[in-house]
Amino acid sequence: MSISENLLKIKKELPTNITLVAVSKTKPFSDIIEAYTTGHRIFGENKIQEMVGKHGELPKDIEWHMIGHIQRNKVKYMAPFVSLIHAVDSLRLLKEINKQALKNNRIINCLLQIKIASEESKFGLTEAEVSELLASEEFKSFQNIKIEGLMGMATFTSDKNQLQKEFGLLKEIYDKFSSDSYRNQNSEFRILSMGMSDDYPIALENGSNMIRVGSSIFGKRACSINFNKKQ
Ligand SMILES: *Cc1c(COP(=O)(O)O)cnc(C)c1O
Repeated sequence: MSISENLLKIKKELPTNITLVAVSKTKPFSDIIEAYTTGHRIFGENKIQEMVGKHGELPKDIEWHMIGHIQRNKVKYMAPFVSLIHAVDSLRLLKEINKQALKNNRIINCLLQIKIASEESKFGLTEAEVSELLASEEFKSFQNIKIEGLMGMATFTSDKNQLQKEFGLLKEIYDKFSSDSYRNQNSEFRILSMGMSDDYPIALENGSNMIRVGSSIFGKRACSINFNKKQ
C-alpha cells in the first residue's frame, strides 16, 4: 500500500478524539508531501536539524512535533516554529526552551517524558521528579512554556502484558497530574502521548490520546536504531 493509503486507513480506524502524529524522520520531502496531500498536517521528527530543514522547504501550515531527545544548545533552531516538544526531561531543558520561546515572542507547548520502559537506554522522569519540577518556584516563573501533558515510550517487546503494565502506569501518572491541584498558569494536562506503530492499539486501550506512528505509514526506515536512546 502507498503512504497515503496507509495513512488514510489508520486515520479511518482511529476514534476522532485521538491525534495522530505522522513520524517522518529519515523520510524524504516527497513522502511528506504525499501524506500532506491527503490533508494530514501533523508530522513528527526526532532530530532538530532535520526538522528545521524540512520546515524550511515544506508547506508552512505543517505542525512540526519534536519527538526525540533534545540537546539544549539546539533548542534555538526550532524555537521559531515547533508546535509541540514531546520529550522534555529536565528543568534545565525547560529553562532553555522558555528562554528561546521568549526571544521568539511565543509560548512553546511541551510534554514531560516519563520513563516507563524497563530498558536502561530510555530517557525520562519519574513521577516524583515531575512533582518536584511542577512545584518548583523556577518552573512557576517560566512565562513562555506550557506543559500540556506527558509522553512515554514502552519497552521494545511483543509481550502484551508488559506493554499493558507500562502504558497503564503512565495513564495513572497522567490522571494524577491532570487533577485541578496541579493546574496553574503554565501547566494544563490534556495530552497523553503514547503508542507507536507496533504498540499503539494497546496504548489506546490504556487511555492514550496522541499516537506517534512512523513505519506503519511511511514503511520501514533504513536505519531505525538509536531513536530517542542514549548512545
Ligand atoms: C521513531 C519514533 C516513533 C515512531 O516509531 P514507529 O515504530 O516507526 O512507528 C515514535 N516515537 C518516537 C519517540 C520515535 O522516535
